[in-house]
Amino acid sequence: MKSEIKNNILYFDGCDTVELAKKYGTPLYVMSETAIVEKCREIRDAFLNKHERTRAAYAGKAFLTLSMCKIIEREGLCMDVVSGGELYTAIKANFPPEKIELNGNNKSIEELELAIGYNIGRIIVDGLDELEIIESICKGKGTKTSILYRITPGVKSDSHDYIVTGKKDSKFGIPLDDEVIFPAIERAINSPYVNFMGFHFHVGSQLHNNDSHLKALETALKLIKDTIDKYNYVTPELNIGGGFGIKYTDEDDKKSYAYFLDPMMEKIDEFSKEQNIKRPEIVIEPGRSIVGEAGITLYTIGTIKDIKGIRKYVSVDGGMTDNIRPALYQAKYESIIANKAGMPNTDMVTISGKCCESGDILIKDANLASAERGDILAVFSTGAYGHSMASNYNKNPIPATLLVKDGKSEIIVKRQTYDHMIANEVIPESLI
Ligand code: PLP
Repeated sequence: MKSEIKNNILYFDGCDTVELAKKYGTPLYVMSETAIVEKCREIRDAFLNKHERTRAAYAGKAFLTLSMCKIIEREGLCMDVVSGGELYTAIKANFPPEKIELNGNNKSIEELELAIGYNIGRIIVDGLDELEIIESICKGKGTKTSILYRITPGVKSDSHDYIVTGKKDSKFGIPLDDEVIFPAIERAINSPYVNFMGFHFHVGSQLHNNDSHLKALETALKLIKDTIDKYNYVTPELNIGGGFGIKYTDEDDKKSYAYFLDPMMEKIDEFSKEQNIKRPEIVIEPGRSIVGEAGITLYTIGTIKDIKGIRKYVSVDGGMTDNIRPALYQAKYESIIANKAGMPNTDMVTISGKCCESGDILIKDANLASAERGDILAVFSTGAYGHSMASNYNKNPIPATLLVKDGKSEIIVKRQTYDHMIANEVIPESLI
């Protein structure tokens, strides 16, 4: 297990977290390399090694740094990026371009030029106008690129509205109205500038139920069949997205990769046999499930306000700037006082951040040992969408990120300084 308690101290991947806080300061993101590698192995066992012609593209939006790219490459996964910045990060880490795919509902011309210029493996096209831009860039460069269409499967997943992406009323994907999707398919098949590989769907995030994946798959398989029937064209690939949920709290009924993937692979195999076609190559895009539980955040406890009969606020030196998820979609977390880790939880408190927003609450009703100023608070399962969604609100610097493994720690992202934050600011002549 990556976290354990010894002498009332929380250890994470063999490291004394109180010592880490002392040495590197807080707030501090701590990522366990052991835990990330374990997840990649789980994906290999449950998917890549179990089925031929499969790929797993880590969704970098969950947590992307140069070091993370190195780990993902070493573990044999591909990379899913959604912006020029993520693409640049992967390229700077020497991630093989052919193993990179680009997603995004509003890619800029510059981002598409960058992607085609680097000759990345796949572009997941999100709308017809995007195909036109890709064609014109490819024409100009005298090249051809491989694309998939992200479809809007019209299913509603059981998750927070902000992380549900597959319903019809969505900014993501191409709607499946006949007059929209079929001309798009026909154009891609006939285009001299793209290799049309097939379809992509992603139904949502933090899911513990495979219903929406299976429903979306049914829709995608019907579209593959329609494409064969109408155009005599067999799409060689199908991307079934990510979304596999993790355990933030005991309320989360986390499922295995096999729970999602086995029934989908079975359906795809059956379908391919029925259609008498070679099964398409299957791609998944897990993000959160690879890094979520592999990360914790360490904070120093400051002001404590006990409002008699109402609530006890325990404030920490970070908050919505390093973890926006509780404020954005009421995400729930668990925590422990790292230097009192074996002590009984005698207090019910609200853990608040330091930002000037009443909504800057990290955990409502946290069961903790008696907190005092200077204690170190560890919040669990912060590895996904924490660092990657961090902001400088209130001009709070973005925390450092550590990579830990078997008792060793290394900085992979330095703490931002006040100077970093104002480095791009300019005072015009008129104000001097
Ligand atoms: N693929 C796409 C297209 C996404 O939009 C997302 C998340 O929003 C993911 C993959 C990763 O999802 P998760 O982190 O839930 O696995």
